Amino acid sequence: MHVIVVGGGIIGVTSAYYLRQQGHEVTVIERRSGVAQETSFGNAGVIAPGYVTPWASPGMPRKVLSYLFKAEAPVLFRPNANPALWRWLARWFSQCNLADFRINRGRMQRLALYSRDQLHALRDALSIEYERGQGYLQLFRSERDLALSAPVRTMLDESGIRYELLDPQRVREREPGLSPSTPLAAGLFLPDDESGNCPMFARRLRQIAEDDGVRFVFGQQVERIVFESGRASGVLVKDQKMPADAVLVAAACDSVSLLRQCGIRAPIYPVKGYSATVTLDPGAIGPQHALMDEAYKTAITPFGNRLRVAGTAEIGDAQLTLRDAALRTLVRVASDWFPGAARYNEAQFWVGARPMLPDGPPLLGPTSRPGLFLNAGHGSNGWAMACGSAKVLADLISGREPEISMDGLTLARYH
Ligand SMILES: Cc1cc2nc3c(=O)[nH]c(=O)nc-3n(C[C@H](O)[C@H](O)[C@H](O)COP(=O)(O)OP(=O)(O)OC[C@H]3O[C@@H](n4cnc5c(N)ncnc54)[C@H](O)[C@@H]3O)c2cc1C
Repeated sequence: MHVIVVGGGIIGVTSAYYLRQQGHEVTVIERRSGVAQETSFGNAGVIAPGYVTPWASPGMPRKVLSYLFKAEAPVLFRPNANPALWRWLARWFSQCNLADFRINRGRMQRLALYSRDQLHALRDALSIEYERGQGYLQLFRSERDLALSAPVRTMLDESGIRYELLDPQRVREREPGLSPSTPLAAGLFLPDDESGNCPMFARRLRQIAEDDGVRFVFGQQVERIVFESGRASGVLVKDQKMPADAVLVAAACDSVSLLRQCGIRAPIYPVKGYSATVTLDPGAIGPQHALMDEAYKTAITPFGNRLRVAGTAEIGDAQLTLRDAALRTLVRVASDWFPGAARYNEAQFWVGARPMLPDGPPLLGPTSRPGLFLNAGHGSNGWAMACGSAKVLADLISGREPEISMDGLTLARYH
């Protein structure tokens, strides 16, 4: 079967790889000049199935309101007149209760744990180097931040995820580079979570997939999906039909408009975030693990001799422009914890849009149109969920039973 994959981010590249492994002829169409150049490019690199949490959580609406007028807010709401935003918010708000939070978290964790297994299998089989780090450490600046993490710790206990609650001294033993002058109440260490460079992995996997026969077409935008007798039969690029037996849409936020033309609604909305990358000074002691400053919801991840600092969730502003206050917050958080470890004034900044569903889990699998499949809407966890989502999609397109339950991971939950 010939499958066209629309989008060459981490989701499209991993999908193409697994589809090829299952014997399909695969063509990836990507409008950029290479793979992983949009949201997959500058993310925090954290792969944390243990800590995966939906954005729709019980305390979140109040938190968003309390941040409304703060310059250093980790979560920002920018109202506009777009009805899609208000529909998304209404749906999100309806999910901000403990019962739905637990359901959504369970669905996301099922996929994220499976995905980590698939990533490990790929890494071992293909020897892919992607600046991998082991362990994920949450930093709590105050007792209040620590207390707020109590429900998450209960859920970690319930789902059997290994973690260690560390007092400040034990945090500093794990992270000797942390500044002693920044207040620190405790740390929560997840030894089985990890991190890695997402675009580096995507570029390497693209090479392997290409060597194996996957065709990558760059610099071409898919304008729409083409149907024959009701079945997806290809895509339209520059008014030319590219034929296929099945089409997989892996176009993150842009999946919405492609699907809308086919009469399918997918409530994926862009949630903007930023990152800064700096080179560590020689001799400086940087982070030993991926870190999360809970107060600012900012991740600090070591990639070789560089630091990636990423955070802020901004909803309502679809323009991918850098915002000074957000960038200052990133630099401030990194220099609070690792002052003098890098020349922060030489940071390279990036902005991207998380393809976010209001309830949290992505949309995987078939659509109401035969031959048309979807792998999109991974929000803040696309790197962590990529290999699992891609394997599931390859199985479904091949007519096989996926190895995990698809309950709550498909479009069916919106119809
Ligand atoms: C600040 C920030 C931090 C993050 N941190 C993490 C993290 O620590 N861990 C984690 O797991 N996730 C993280 N994420 C989320 C993660 O980056 C995304 O979920 C993931 O990159 C989504 O991958 P994708 O392939 O769906 O999207 P993309 O990488 O955006 O790929 C979609 C591709 O489709 C192409 N495309 C779109 N429309 C068309 C068309 N019509 N024709 C052709 N091509 C098209 C685009 O050019 C793009 O390359 C973070 C995101 C942000 C913004």
